Amino acid sequence: MKNITIQGINWDEKSSFQRGPAQAPKLIREALHSGSMNLYSELGASADEEGILDAGDFDIKDYFSIEGITAKHLAAGGKVFTLGGDHSIAYQVIKAHAKHYPKLDILQIDAHADLYDDFEGDKFSHACPFARIMEEGLAVRLVQVGIRTLNPHQAEQAERFGVEIHEMRNLDLNTIGPFENPLYLSLDLDGLDPAFAPGVSHHEPGGLTSRQVINLIQNLDANIVGADIVEYNPDRDHKGMTAFLAAKLMKEVLGRM
Ligand code: MN
Ligand code: MN
Repeated sequence: MKNITIQGINWDEKSSFQRGPAQAPKLIREALHSGSMNLYSELGASADEEGILDAGDFDIKDYFSIEGITAKHLAAGGKVFTLGGDHSIAYQVIKAHAKHYPKLDILQIDAHADLYDDFEGDKFSHACPFARIMEEGLAVRLVQVGIRTLNPHQAEQAERFGVEIHEMRNLDLNTIGPFENPLYLSLDLDGLDPAFAPGVSHHEPGGLTSRQVINLIQNLDANIVGADIVEYNPDRDHKGMTAFLAAKLMKEVLGRM
């Protein structure tokens, strides 16, 4: 049995503004294995360990098939790390996790709360996954970090679902955690400032630095049982810098898993 399975989900049909994230998994892997960096996290864990199985990238035709792909990899017995894809995949991936971990906490790093009841008529838009997750009771706690786009509807949804929001405007990273239940980490790259991560569909200034996100991952007081990195959009990137950031964050997350 492998300790961690990596799966890439080629999917961006639920993006509301720009397509592109379907190409992300392959490009993040290429950055990771380009020879530009070694495969160790800053804490000394290797992304090249024998315990890690790379299951490759999956071309998705049906949104609802993502749950089954994830469930199959979870059934192998280890943890699953997912490269997206737009953020809509998180609902399907987390749904599969919730069946293995009836008590699951979620930490979401994002500029956006993604709590819309529907977005432009679509309940499964990348603006909605955490509304679906909370409606179905798939998480005990949902903690969001980096949020800087709350509108009245989403603030209302957050209150309705008891979401714990750490908004960017008054962020104190020392107040995040500990997490008592197994933790799923969902990392939307637009949580970082576009100065650090230009390769995303929605540029939302005033975000997290690369260092803040790395420190947050390294210092998390939690048992991370699953994670994703989503919303890399190569069409918006400069010289692959966001792909290299995603690869670096991938090493840090894998190291903590
Ligand atoms: Mn998101
Ligand atoms: Mn976002």
